[in-house]
Amino acid sequence: RGIIDSFSSILNEESKQDSSVSSSSTSSGSMNGIDGVPVTNERIAYKLKGYFDLAKEEIAKGIRAEEWGLHDDALLHYRNAQRIMNEASSTPSPSYISSSEKEKVRSYREKISNWQNQVSERLQALGKRTGVGVSENKRTVASPSSASVSSTASRYRKTSLQKTPVPRGGIATAKNPKDAAASPKPVKESGNVYDDKLVEMINTTIVDRSPSVKWDDVAGLDGAKQALLEMVILPAKRRDLFTGLRRPARGLLLFGPPGNGKTMLAKAVASESQATFFNVSASSLTSKWVGEAEKLVKTLFQVAISRQPSVIFMDEIDSIMSTRSISENEASRRLKSEFLIQFDGVTSNPDDLVIVIGATNKPQELDDAVLRRLVKRIYVPLPDSNVRKLLFKTKLKCQPHSLSNDDIDKIVKETEGYSGSDLQALCEEAAMMPIRELGADILTVQANKVRPLRYDDFRKSMAVIRPSLSKSKWEELERWNSEFGSN
Ligand code: ATP
Ligand code: MG
Repeated sequence: RGIIDSFSSILNEESKQDSSVSSSSTSSGSMNGIDGVPVTNERIAYKLKGYFDLAKEEIAKGIRAEEWGLHDDALLHYRNAQRIMNEASSTPSPSYISSSEKEKVRSYREKISNWQNQVSERLQALGKRTGVGVSENKRTVASPSSASVSSTASRYRKTSLQKTPVPRGGIATAKNPKDAAASPKPVKESGNVYDDKLVEMINTTIVDRSPSVKWDDVAGLDGAKQALLEMVILPAKRRDLFTGLRRPARGLLLFGPPGNGKTMLAKAVASESQATFFNVSASSLTSKWVGEAEKLVKTLFQVAISRQPSVIFMDEIDSIMSTRSISENEASRRLKSEFLIQFDGVTSNPDDLVIVIGATNKPQELDDAVLRRLVKRIYVPLPDSNVRKLLFKTKLKCQPHSLSNDDIDKIVKETEGYSGSDLQALCEEAAMMPIRELGADILTVQANKVRPLRYDDFRKSMAVIRPSLSKSKWEELERWNSEFGSN
C-alpha cells in the first residue's frame, strides 16, 4: 500500500475512533482497525504502530535520498517523518488501558521520541548544507532548457569524479504515487524528454572512474582479457581502425562461478580504458526508482551515447534481466523491454560506440532476448593450477614467509576447486596464524619479530576455508559454457 493509502486508513481510523469514543472495549469488537485488529479502546498501540511504520518508511526514503545526494528530497521525507511523529506524540493515551498495552505504548512512544531527535538532527545538518551546498548544487542541476544532453553531461563530468557511494541493498521502496509527483518535471531538450535529476544521478552515482583495480592485478583470465582488449580498450583508443568488419561486438557476458574475478575484470576495464564507465547495479536501478527504472535505463543509454565511447557494466545482470515469468511484476517487465529497445538502438547505429557488459554467476537464469544480444560470452572459470600459483605468489609478495617453491606447488595442488576469493580468504586465514600464537604478547611484540608464514599455516587454514562452489553448480556452469559460451 502506498503512503497515501496508509494515511487515509489512519485518518479513517481516527474518525471511527471519534464516533466510538464512548463505546466500551467489547462493544466495538466488530469494527476493524489497523491490521484488521478489532477496534477497542486499547487500539492506541496499533495507532502508534501505524504512525511509527509510516515514519519509518519516510525516514528510510530520506536516508536513501541523502545517499544519492538528493538533499531536497531528503529534506522533504524527513519533514514528512517529523510531521507524522509529531502527530503521534500528540495523540493522547486513553484513561483505561491494560498493563500489557501500556508497555507497548510506552515502548512506541520511546522509539518515536528517539527518532524525533535523530530526524531533527538530520534536518539541521541538511539545513546547514542546503544553506551553502544545495544552492550551489541547484545552480548545476537547474538546467537551462537550451542545453544539450552532451553539455549537461560535460557539466557533470567533474562531479562524476567524486565518488558517491552507491546504495546497496536499500530497503525496497513501495510503488508510490507521491514519489512520482515529487519527481522533477522533465525538461524538453532537442525534442527528447530528459529528466535532469536522472541525468545527474547517472553522472554522480553510476559513472565510475575508480582506479582501484589494474589490469595486472587480475591473475590469469587471458581469454577474457583479450576479448575486452579487442572489444573495449583498443576500439576506444583507435576508433578509426575498428570500423566496418572490425566493428567491435556491442554485448559481452562474463559468466562463471562466484569469486573468480568477473567484477574485478570489469573494474580493471574501467580504470584502464578511456571509455566512460557506467556501473549499473540492480540496486541502483530499482531501489530509489521503482516505477521510474525504465526511464532511468533510457536516460542511461542517452548519457552513454553522449559520452561515448562508453561501457555500460551490469553486475549481477541475472537479478535485473532474468527470464520473464508470469509472476514477474509489471515494473521489471517494462525495465527489460526498455533495455532491449535501447540496446538495439545503440547497436543499429554504426557510429555509436556503446558497449554493454554483463556479469553473472547464474547465466542459466538470463532472459533469452538479453542473452541473444550479449553475443560474446566469456567463461571466467575457477583458477587452474597456473593461475593459483600466480595468485599465491602475488599475495605472498607483501608478507614475510618461509615457503619454498615446493611448498607453494603443494598448496597449489591441494587447493584444486578453490575460487579466487576462496584463495584470498585462505591466505588471510593463514596470515593470522602467527598472530594468534602470540597470545598476550600481541600488545608488546615488535612488528618485525612476528614469525614468517610457513607451509603448516596454510595446511591448517585449509581445514577452515573450504572451496565454496559445489560440484553440481560447477558442472552446471561448465555445461552452460559448452552450449552457449564463446570460448
Ligand atoms: P561474483 O560472481 O560473486 O560477483 P566475481 O567473479 O565478480 O564474483 P570478484 O568480485 O571479481 O568475483 O572477485 C572476488 C575477489 O577474489 C577479488 O576481490 C580478489 O581478491 C579475488 N580474485 C578472484 N579472482 C581473481 C583473479 N583472477 N586475480 C586476482 N584476484 C582474484
Ligand atoms: Mg561480481
